[in-house]
This record gives sequence, C-alpha cells and structure tokens, in this order.
Amino acid sequence: MSKYKVAPASMFTDQESNTLRCACCGKDLFSDYPEKAMIQFSYDADGNLVRCVPCCKGECDQELTGKIAKGLTNKWSDLTDYLNPYFRLRKTMGLIKALEEKKSASPEAADALMDVFIKTAPYVYRQPTENDKVEYERIQMALEAES
Ligand SMILES: [Zn+2]
Repeated sequence: MSKYKVAPASMFTDQESNTLRCACCGKDLFSDYPEKAMIQFSYDADGNLVRCVPCCKGECDQELTGKIAKGLTNKWSDLTDYLNPYFRLRKTMGLIKALEEKKSASPEAADALMDVFIKTAPYVYRQPTENDKVEYERIQMALEAES
C-alpha cells in the first residue's frame, strides 16, 4: 500500500484522463506507488523548457536519461510534489515568472507539462460540485462564442 493516501477528486470520467503513463514502460504512475515516479525536465542554455518526461524512478529514469541530447540542463521532481497543493501553487507561480522572463517551451514539453498538471489536478483540487460543472460549461461556451 502506498504511503500517499490522498483520495483524488472525481474530476474526469474516463480512465485515461486519470492515468499518467511512464514515458518508458507505459505503466500508470498513479497505479500503486506515486512515490516511485518522477518527472524529468531538460532546459536549453537560455533556460527554455525543451523536454518534460514523466517516468518511473530507477531503470526507466536511467534509460530515458541516456536518450537526452547533450548540452541540456537536466532537473527532476518527484511526482508526489505535483500532488502537494503548496508545491503546486509554487510551480504555478514559477510558470507565471517564466512568462515574465519570456522563457519558452517546446510544443512537446508544453503538452507533456500540461498533461502532468491536468492529471495531477484531482489530487490537488477539491471535489467539484454539480454547480461548478454547470458553471464551467457555461463559461466554456461563452469563451468559445468569443473566439
Ligand atoms: Zn516505467
């Protein structure tokens, strides 16, 4: 049994939206021990995000690390950091700071990071009410009508 005992909110109805897969072996990183999962990040010399890869710690991490292009700065975070509301807020502030500093992300890294933020959201946010869902649909339709 995982030490990570937070029950995720039921935000998404389809199983794949509740699944974050290892980029190496394809295992669902939430399936048993999220403590054994991590996210690799690689930055270019200007500090732009060029790579974001969720994976298992250990063999998958090492295999994926071996495929990283030379000359990049590599960092990593525990997946469980993204499940922590305080760390999550700090990461969100960091992204706003990166906007201010005019940093960029490759399309692949941006997609992967959005996937991490979406799929970890049920562990960070409260259970939505029916009214939240109705209001969200109303806002979404209004935004679509604007564009
Ligand atoms: Zn793996």
